[in-house]
Amino acid sequence: MSDERLKPVIVPVFLPFQGCRGRCVFCEQQAITSRSAEPLKPEKIEETLRDAFAKRKHHMGRETIVAFYGGTFTNLSLSLMEKILDTTVPFRKQGLFSSIRVSTRPDALETEKLETMKLYGVDTVELGAQSMDDNVLETILRGHRARDTAEGVAKLKGLGFKVGVQLMVGLPGDSPRGFMATVEKVIGLRPSMVRLYPTVVIEGTRLEQWYRDGRYMPLELDRAVELCADACRCFEKEGIDVIRIGLVGSPTLIPGKQLIDGPWHPCFGFLVRASMHLERILSSLPRLSGKVERVRIRAPAREVPLVRGFRNQGLVKLNAALGTEVAEVSADESLCAGTIGIDAL
Ligand code: SF4
Repeated sequence: MSDERLKPVIVPVFLPFQGCRGRCVFCEQQAITSRSAEPLKPEKIEETLRDAFAKRKHHMGRETIVAFYGGTFTNLSLSLMEKILDTTVPFRKQGLFSSIRVSTRPDALETEKLETMKLYGVDTVELGAQSMDDNVLETILRGHRARDTAEGVAKLKGLGFKVGVQLMVGLPGDSPRGFMATVEKVIGLRPSMVRLYPTVVIEGTRLEQWYRDGRYMPLELDRAVELCADACRCFEKEGIDVIRIGLVGSPTLIPGKQLIDGPWHPCFGFLVRASMHLERILSSLPRLSGKVERVRIRAPAREVPLVRGFRNQGLVKLNAALGTEVAEVSADESLCAGTIGIDAL
């Protein structure tokens, strides 16, 4: 697992739906980002950056990245793109951040815009691929094909960008097998990083209508966690970083507000990491000799929460696997990452 202390600090600037020419069936950027889709004002972006940098003193010493998310950055006009990127220049001169990343679509990669972005210090482009299955892409009204993603990744790498790929699990028309085929295809493109998002039903989307008509059923939470864990294992085995699993927290994207149904969980990424960790531990559990009624489990301090799992669900599974009660979990820094020690009590 990557070390939180070494992770870069992201200063996000959300541009909901800006540059989007259509509306993907699952997408409701205002709910996801808690930001309104007002026309873009560079002064507003400057204010967002000023506020964010004023609060970031505690992040000193860590790499800081300004990230433009929530729309199709490279579908903005070149002049608007430049105005937005201009807002970052004074902060960069003060050394407040070191690079910029943007998210966009695979079919919106005009060379002139990409070259302009490079001049402003954009070094990473994240592509919303969502799936590598053309039937799924057509169903969700993405408006691009898998080939666009493959060509887009190659083009961006050719221009020297680091490339991120965003994928969604549980899309309409997709299947667990289809999702894993997408994972394999993305591995073949060799991006630097990926993000994994569960598909949830958000109020006001076409997916909500399909859900209410019985045309779409979201994945169960456990299944979505399992599939993301499988995907994560595949990517990380190939040296591709999984930089986010699960939707970003938002005050409106919660049950009872704009979230209608689906595998949403406030700690979705943690559930996936804990599930991966538990499986690793269970595959190499030491044998207990004789009749033992209670045990203590030791783990490296950073991994204790992963051993426990969300609300101690990991311990429940360990109890069952060991056939004994796990009475305590304690930190033991002499252990290697991914391993545990077990003591009879
Ligand atoms: S998923 Fe991306 S491209 Fe589709 S509507 Fe939302 S922001 Fe726009």
